[in-house]
Amino acid sequence: MPECPACGSAQTVKNGKAKNGTQTSLCKVCGRRFHPDAKPVAHSEATRTPILDAVHDRMSLRGVQRVFGVHRNTVIRWIKKGPPK
Ligand SMILES: [Zn+2]
Repeated sequence: MPECPACGSAQTVKNGKAKNGTQTSLCKVCGRRFHPDAKPVAHSEATRTPILDAVHDRMSLRGVQRVFGVHRNTVIRWIKKGPPK
């Protein structure tokens, strides 16, 4: 069984399917429900920061995509969200 993301316990059980069809698990220790196969965040802040710096240095979004391998629509979304707090 997957570890609980909240408390780290391995005492988790299957808890049926969520509405979107993904398997969910339930932690027997803290009672939290979670998705054992949830994908990690695609781009961390450590990834975003140099990319946004490059954009502010007037690198084109196509250039960013070529250099960093991040799709320009993703970068546009970050720009709209503003700098990380
Ligand atoms: Zn737990």
